Amino acid sequence: MNNLTLQDIFNAFRNPPADDRKKVITRAYELAVKAHEGQKRRSGEDYVQHPIAVAIILASIGMGGKTIAAGLLHDVPEDTPVPLAEIEKEFGQEIASLVDGVTKLGKIKLRGSHEEYYLENLRKMLLAMATDIRVVIIKLADRLHNMRTLEFNPPDKQLRIAHETMEVFAPIANRLGMGEMKSQLQDLSFKYLDPENYELVKDLEDKNYAEKEKYVLQAIAELEAEMKKAGVTIIETSGRAKSVYSLFLKMKKHDMDINRVYDLAAVRIIVPEVADCYETLGIVHKKYRPMIGRIKDYVSLPKPNGYQSIHTTVFGPDGKIIEVQIRTQKMHSEAEFGIASHWFYSESKKKKWKDYIFRSAKKTEPVKEIEWVKQLREWQNEIGRDDEEFIESLNIDFFKNHIFAFTPMGDIIDLPEEATPIDFAYAIHGEIGNHTVGAKIDNKMVSLDHHIRNGEVIEILTSKDRKGPNQDWLKFVKTSAAKSHIKKELKNQNH
Ligand code: MN
Repeated sequence: MNNLTLQDIFNAFRNPPADDRKKVITRAYELAVKAHEGQKRRSGEDYVQHPIAVAIILASIGMGGKTIAAGLLHDVPEDTPVPLAEIEKEFGQEIASLVDGVTKLGKIKLRGSHEEYYLENLRKMLLAMATDIRVVIIKLADRLHNMRTLEFNPPDKQLRIAHETMEVFAPIANRLGMGEMKSQLQDLSFKYLDPENYELVKDLEDKNYAEKEKYVLQAIAELEAEMKKAGVTIIETSGRAKSVYSLFLKMKKHDMDINRVYDLAAVRIIVPEVADCYETLGIVHKKYRPMIGRIKDYVSLPKPNGYQSIHTTVFGPDGKIIEVQIRTQKMHSEAEFGIASHWFYSESKKKKWKDYIFRSAKKTEPVKEIEWVKQLREWQNEIGRDDEEFIESLNIDFFKNHIFAFTPMGDIIDLPEEATPIDFAYAIHGEIGNHTVGAKIDNKMVSLDHHIRNGEVIEILTSKDRKGPNQDWLKFVKTSAAKSHIKKELKNQNH
């Protein structure tokens, strides 16, 4: 077995790390090696291989020196004689609090398939995110490596961990826009949770993709030539295969018929500017006839997790159906690494080739998001671990324009800013909205135009006597779902 070393962490950086960054990582590495000395993993390798692997994942997704150092130390207080206080003394409060956050998250375990546990876990993760998103990113890297080495665990533990990964960690990675992390976690879990279907789909994909690859490569060559003619700069073109699990989900929708999955093979084109995306789309459609109704413009209308790209399905070389995805470098980076890419951008201003990306990013994207990460950091330094402050901290909306509220059963309802109990009720079900007479938060009645705050548990009171929605609700509801339900119901009543 190949032992991972400090150099492997540095090699995982997309750009050689600066000296100060190297220094803190080196010190953390040395402490981790010392603290875990003599400990072994189930696989038989030295325990320290695990935190090193975690650090490599963190470096590869563009995280900074402190996060990587915390990744190296994440199991030290829990599993070794070295206490958190020593980490704080050696590395300062920020790194110590990251390590502490990961240790605390690690204590939350999903037991069996009890829904309550799963939801409670998810809830705590979401709340922890609000205090320091880096804790969650370290936890995801930790989980990714544990999944890669899951085979060394007993079968019952394999199932529990895989289940937890599929139900809790992959959705969180998705929520953070970390597409690559999500796919890897899903595929690794899928393999343990449903080995038969995993093998079936993987086999099918391998065979089909090999067949399609020829056309993908041909399409790339042809499109590159057209773009060159038109004078559009290409940063990168590539073919991409769908993840096994996402292919499985798609096949399930189509009676397990792989021929009805049109985006099995895709060409990805990365260009400098947003305007180039649309110009490229024109070039693609001029070259290959588009399939009607298959153009998705997530550039103008990003997905809720922030994903941006233009997708179009075309009749490519030999009339074969392929999908083409067009995006800028910044969109690409965000699609792969999600929230982590914000660190990448904010910490890499000095670097040359990234300057280029940064410049192109700046034009199209207000610096707001990067500002927001800075704000989040400052704000994290201000708040302590005190419970009251922790609760108060939830007022600060973590995802701009996003609020997570919970039903008494623990279901999570994702709402826009300033959403009200009426929005919440309609988000659960139209009939619940129509019959709402009141709402309780923490067992206290609140007005129906109350602005829901992140993390609140909301109980909707309904009554059969209520004939339908109130016209006045339209004055304060925020979601289009609530608005359209109310209007439709009022219209029905007038008839
Ligand atoms: Mn660990």
